[in-house]
Amino acid sequence: YFAIHLLAAQRRRLDAALAPFLLAPDTLREVRDKMRAELEYGLKREAQGKATVKMLPTYVCGTPDGTEKGKFLALDLGGTNFRVLLVKIKSGRKRSVQMYNKIFAIPLEIMQGTGEELFDHIVQCIAEFLEYMGIKGACLPLGFTFSFPCRQGTLVGWTKGFKATDCEGEDVVDMLREAIRRRNEFDLDIVAVVNDTVGTMMTCGYEDPNCEIGLIAGTGSNVCYMEDMKNIEIVEGNEGKMCINTEWGAFGDNGCIDHIRTKYDREVDEGSLNPGKQRYEKMTSGMYLGEIVRQILIDLTKQGLLFRGHISESLRKRGIFETKFLSQIESDRLALLQVRRILQQLGLDSTCEDSIIVKEVCGVVSRRAARLCGAGLAAIVEKKRENRGVEHLQITVGVDGTLYKLHPHFSTVLRETVKELAPQCDVTFLLSEDGSGKGAALITAVAKRLHNIDKY
Ligand code: BGC
Ligand code: MG
Repeated sequence: YFAIHLLAAQRRRLDAALAPFLLAPDTLREVRDKMRAELEYGLKREAQGKATVKMLPTYVCGTPDGTEKGKFLALDLGGTNFRVLLVKIKSGRKRSVQMYNKIFAIPLEIMQGTGEELFDHIVQCIAEFLEYMGIKGACLPLGFTFSFPCRQGTLVGWTKGFKATDCEGEDVVDMLREAIRRRNEFDLDIVAVVNDTVGTMMTCGYEDPNCEIGLIAGTGSNVCYMEDMKNIEIVEGNEGKMCINTEWGAFGDNGCIDHIRTKYDREVDEGSLNPGKQRYEKMTSGMYLGEIVRQILIDLTKQGLLFRGHISESLRKRGIFETKFLSQIESDRLALLQVRRILQQLGLDSTCEDSIIVKEVCGVVSRRAARLCGAGLAAIVEKKRENRGVEHLQITVGVDGTLYKLHPHFSTVLRETVKELAPQCDVTFLLSEDGSGKGAALITAVAKRLHNIDKY
């Protein structure tokens, strides 16, 4: 009897800690509407430099048409890994994309060192790749997937795990060119700098012309979409469409969703590299979900509900719960014993009850992330629907990112939420196959083609 009584008390305190994560449908609708208002505001001329959701014009005005061809180099910086790729695109009947890539680690001290060190390291990796592929003298056109907010090629601010000095406000192509010059060993024809959302949309657009939205739910969170030129005040011209990189991760930086943030969210934010920034991203992306979980676990342990009230060294370590661990812990097929084994691997000795609680905490945090992301996406598809002036919209979203791809429930909950909050839109989700690599090459190919037409 005593044990049952204790469990009930435990349950009450656990529920109390997790209650703020269970967003009511009305709250989600409110998030959707606030996102919509911020999207609209970001497109206004008066909002320049003031909007939290920056709505950056990308100057990408169409999706690929299948006539792209050639050999390209692509770089991918800003996700889980840094990669260098060689991409061969064939057009016509034998239309295909072939890729060779190499993954390089970027050590923490380089991500957070000086800008020169970071770009020298990148060029060092390119050199190794060219050497390895035997194409050092080729001077291939290069597309750079650089997954950070850029305004006309200039880095607005670092996000996620990056904080190299002297880069913010600088031109990304210039920084890369200067590093290539410093090394003085080979030359590259840098053609395009692309956000990963745009690369993802382009890659999926290559397969499905109805794809006009690109979503990343990975280390970071972001969306791009094709907007009518007439709605983009800061870009001249009213004809056609242009891809807008929303940078929605910064949604809420003006405090407009603070009422749904929990004390755990605030702790994660304060312990991050960019306090006060990317508030929505910090509730929805892989880099932070594990941190939210860790903050809750610390609190529950302090309350004596977990780990026999003992906060271990491991639990104090930032970043121990990577997306892949959350995904494993939440897998339905996993027996509790296996959850305990994963926790053990992370240096957390747990009882059976502990592992039940940990699994529940992970579930609540990732579900809120998926629903918030769904509320944001509902705002985007609704905007697209109104732009087209149709009762019902059929649209495809190209998606990439470790959270969407690896997590056992995130994608399902995201899709359900979009359906619920944008019932007049019929949304197809298309997984991108390496959007960052392929997309950068496709955009480079399109840019080359347009450039050649200009020339001749
Ligand atoms: C960046 C975006 C990027 C997203 C996904 C965010 O932190 O600001 O530019 O698209 O992460 O990688
Ligand atoms: Mg990526």
